[in-house]
Amino acid sequence: MSTNPSQSVGISKPPAWLGILGGGQLGRMFIHEAQSLGFKVCVLDPDPLSPGGSVAEKHLCADYLDVAALTEMAGLCSAVSTEFENVPARALDFFKERAIFVAPDSSCVSIAQDRIAEKAFLTQCAPLSGVGPVPYGILKTEADLASISPDLFPAIVKTVRLGYDGKGQVTVMTPDTLAQAWDSLGKAACVVEKRMPLAFEVSAIVARAHDGSVQSYPPSENIHRNGILHTSTVPAPSLEQRPDLLQRIQKATIAIATEMQYVGVLCVEYFVLTDGSIIANEVAPRPHNSGHFTMDACVTSQFQQQVRAMARLPLGDTRLLSPVAMLNILGDAWFSPDGVSGASATEPAWEEVLSHSNAKLHLYGKASPLPGRKMGHVNCLGQSLLEAQQACADVAHDLGIAP
Ligand code: ADP
Ligand code: MG
Repeated sequence: MSTNPSQSVGISKPPAWLGILGGGQLGRMFIHEAQSLGFKVCVLDPDPLSPGGSVAEKHLCADYLDVAALTEMAGLCSAVSTEFENVPARALDFFKERAIFVAPDSSCVSIAQDRIAEKAFLTQCAPLSGVGPVPYGILKTEADLASISPDLFPAIVKTVRLGYDGKGQVTVMTPDTLAQAWDSLGKAACVVEKRMPLAFEVSAIVARAHDGSVQSYPPSENIHRNGILHTSTVPAPSLEQRPDLLQRIQKATIAIATEMQYVGVLCVEYFVLTDGSIIANEVAPRPHNSGHFTMDACVTSQFQQQVRAMARLPLGDTRLLSPVAMLNILGDAWFSPDGVSGASATEPAWEEVLSHSNAKLHLYGKASPLPGRKMGHVNCLGQSLLEAQQACADVAHDLGIAP
């Protein structure tokens, strides 16, 4: 990995301007943390109603490759980051070429936005990290169909680019239905992954500074529903009796960040299999939904950590202050549970959520709730893990979210 030539630029101190590409909920929470440290934030997002755009000091409402907007951001900001991996690498490089510190570097973002590059990188890291990717094959052309090993079935076919929240994925039980499944994905470049017997899923987040120092958050145990994160619980219940696994996961995450020469907040999703082995599923070069627990349960949130890393300031403490269970709130909570089509959206009973004194509600200010759209989350704290989990179950019940 090449060294970032903007490594020589200085630190950013409040009240400097920071730039963020993308104004979704991750951008918005990043902006709030940057502002609480006294920074000003310029966000670039083509959506005039973006959650981040409404809270930033400046919203450039333009495409990510709009030269006028990039030029304006470069004139204002001393450091730039991104809230999502699908930002064009050229947008990040625009700033790097102007000696503005960019974290993470576009080389790291490029790995995470392409499942083939990501798996190749995880394979390359495996001797150091001790953890490799899931067995997989590459499907780019008709000719590749015949070369996919029968050992990979049942398989999950995933588009190489632009997949998230389980989108762009199809399960394929047998080799003879692969061509049909690939058709349904528009014959886009894909990876064909072996469907693994998961015991549970965890993710681990590290922050790595420009000087190579690293701070690790405790891994969270994640439950997904329909491919979308549902809850994240910390300490991870399934790791409580397995300190060996927890250590291997944290060590692997640091190895992956170090091998990338990564600067900023990095999340690695892991599968723990029924035989106890660990697989690295994917990496996210940014704060992650499964790290939202850090906002209320850790000394330093993942968003503040991202601010510190890009500003080249010292990293904060990642210590967990309380057991916590995070519940995602999707747009479904605005509609009746039986999903009557055409029903109008009804604002959930927030007062009931807030009646739980240890429930910390975060809403993203999105204009229209839609089923499957991430609208907010609740961090449920507890004196014990059990208490946090119970609070989470109670809040889910109040919101009509099935346990
Ligand atoms: P996304 O980019 O949408 O998050 P992921 O690759 O993380 O896509 O897949 C979403 C979820 O689907 C995972 O968290 C896991 O629950 C399940 N899944 C994905 N790949 C596999 C696999 N190879 N074997 C078993 N389950 C999988
Ligand atoms: Mg994932």
